[in-house]
Amino acid sequence: MSFILGLTGGIGSGKSAASQWFESQNIVVVDADVVAREIVEIGQPALQQIHQAFGDWVLLENGALNRRALREHIFKNPLARKTLENITHPAIRTSIIEQLQRAQSPYVILVSPLLFETNQHQLTQHNLLIDASEELQIQRASQRDDQNIEQIQKIIQTQMSRQKKRDFANDIVLNDGHLEHLYEKLQPLHHKYLKLALEKK
Ligand code: ADP
Repeated sequence: MSFILGLTGGIGSGKSAASQWFESQNIVVVDADVVAREIVEIGQPALQQIHQAFGDWVLLENGALNRRALREHIFKNPLARKTLENITHPAIRTSIIEQLQRAQSPYVILVSPLLFETNQHQLTQHNLLIDASEELQIQRASQRDDQNIEQIQKIIQTQMSRQKKRDFANDIVLNDGHLEHLYEKLQPLHHKYLKLALEKK
């Protein structure tokens, strides 16, 4: 498998903006959020397990996952969150590994909001944190999504603290300026990762 870079950051920090830039440099990006949605699609074993664990209310009439109901349920109920994670995390991990193995580029990126929280960084050789103040996180995420400030604050609370993420990361980019400014900071890192990937071969 090629050199794997973990890319993380809290909600609204600019992870997706950063991964899009790496993709524009022809680096394959595996997105843990996308994988998390794929593994609960209709017909997937994880969806059947969720149905068994929680009951019929967790499915919509067409048999798809009722994400909103499940999200509200686990916000109120930490034990239910654990049950859900015990089902989804192993399935997500298996699928991520498959996609990383298939990827063909000088190095590969695993982007995940919960890279450190869910031990996905065990799959990576090096980790890059996109960091932003909580104020900027809330401002960006609320502009992007149909979520109010309170919901975003709750999500931030469930994520690892900025400081702890900084301790885990090998590289940190503070995304506190224009997007162009972010890309300028990513350029030298891209060159560093190309070099590290060559050294690993
Ligand atoms: P994440 O994936 O970490 O949740 P995104 O990359 O989606 O965050 O960024 C959140 C929103 O803020 C997006 O709409 C994105 O285009 C915007 N954004 C990110 N970084 C910047 C920046 N430096 N300047 C302006 N807008 C930004």
